[in-house]
Amino acid sequence: MRKINIFDTTLRDGEQSAGVNLNFTEKLEIARQLERLNVDIIEAGFPAASKGDFASVAEIAREIKGCSVTGLARSVLKDIDAAWEALKHGAEPRLHLFIATSPIHRIHKLKQTKEEVIETAVRTVQYAAAKFPVIQWSAEDACRTELDFLAEIVEEVIKAGAKVINIPDTVGYISPQEYGNIFTYLREHVPSINKIELSAHCHDDLGMSIANSLAAVSAGASQVEGTINGIGERAGNAALEEFAVALHIRKDFYEAETRMNLKEISRTSSLVSKLTGMAVPANKAVVGRNAFAHESGIHQDGVLKEKTTYEIISPELVGLQNNTMVLGKHSGRHAFRNRLNEIGLSVPENEINHLFTVFKELADRKKEMTDDDLAAIILEEKLSKEQQYYRLDSIQVQYGTNQVPTATVTLSGCQNERIQEASTGSGSIEALYNTLEKCMDETASLLDYRIQSVGAGRDALAQVYVKLVFGGIETSGRGLAQDVLEASAKAYINAVNRVLYMEETKKIAVTG
Ligand SMILES: [Zn+2]
Repeated sequence: MRKINIFDTTLRDGEQSAGVNLNFTEKLEIARQLERLNVDIIEAGFPAASKGDFASVAEIAREIKGCSVTGLARSVLKDIDAAWEALKHGAEPRLHLFIATSPIHRIHKLKQTKEEVIETAVRTVQYAAAKFPVIQWSAEDACRTELDFLAEIVEEVIKAGAKVINIPDTVGYISPQEYGNIFTYLREHVPSINKIELSAHCHDDLGMSIANSLAAVSAGASQVEGTINGIGERAGNAALEEFAVALHIRKDFYEAETRMNLKEISRTSSLVSKLTGMAVPANKAVVGRNAFAHESGIHQDGVLKEKTTYEIISPELVGLQNNTMVLGKHSGRHAFRNRLNEIGLSVPENEINHLFTVFKELADRKKEMTDDDLAAIILEEKLSKEQQYYRLDSIQVQYGTNQVPTATVTLSGCQNERIQEASTGSGSIEALYNTLEKCMDETASLLDYRIQSVGAGRDALAQVYVKLVFGGIETSGRGLAQDVLEASAKAYINAVNRVLYMEETKKIAVTG
């Protein structure tokens, strides 16, 4: 059976999704889960893009030892230098270097001739090869590049030291058969092709990313790139969980497999969805809420008699378990710690006591504590430790059918100063957000507001996602609380804290 390497770019291409901006702790949390999922390579970010990107790539490279960590770089020396500084402590430092090769990009973006593009690519690969043991080289917009030129530049960068050649369908334009043909062409026309691995990187603009990735595998690719839940630029990247499960279920046909620990898929998907605020559609393959729900009477009857009549994937395969009641207010520290271990939440020993107190406080108010609740509060506690420019001290909201809703908010500012304001609105949330706007003395417009319960039950925790423009910058935030108004206030403050953090670590525009 051929082994296909899984290259995860949730933290780079995925993080380029509109409205997604993950902070340092969130990126690290996702990287740890990707390690448990057993992907082969994690693309942790674009080190030259900003101080924040650099710091998170460096930390992930230092911490993650179970797989290779890579970072993106344009074909310029300062990007390569920044990537090396960020990645050099990793288990297997790997550079992801790219340059655009298609005529559209060469003429309009790079303003370089074919010869100049080859010269730049070769020079930068050689420069990087002196530092990095593994260089992956990508031909941006490869699928709209002349085949003979693509073969020529690929041969030259292999000679210069590239070990992995990635053929991205950057704009999501190609069809499966054409994509497979590019790989076949390269295998026939690039003399040094047997010295390297070929990689596929597909976008889902025409809904063909998984079909294209599988076509590439059939045509000789041994690495597939994508993101969890298929998040990413525009319509997103190939969803890695779909690809891995498709290969597993149809290994009779593809005769290839990945090393992915499929049982970690469900947990990884829900973590990425929670932290990015990008909900997974109910009908999405493999990880959607309805992916294993049989609704029609005929189907239900069939599944009861013999599961395989209508079920090709079992929920257990992807680690989906019934979310049963697990802990309550009488549960002890020992049971609490055990349950955290069982559901794969890593908590340092010195934090157990504090987290147990948080758990107890909530368990006093909430009858049943499910795994989802535990995961939500642990995550919230971890994340609340950083980037707190504003902190919520208290809120009070008055609402009545024939009254003007009024909110009073007390915050602590970054110098621990106390800020208190009150305001009104046509509804409770508007009153609350008008008050927060006053506290922060900066206009904010709300683009999106979503509220979700964590699990079922009328005492369920509330999770609020907001997308807003604060001081001219678009951002998103998340808040968790037992009360919906408190969760709403926390989400707003979280979004603002992210903008203030981003201001400190200004970003440059990224492609890829
Ligand atoms: Zn991409």
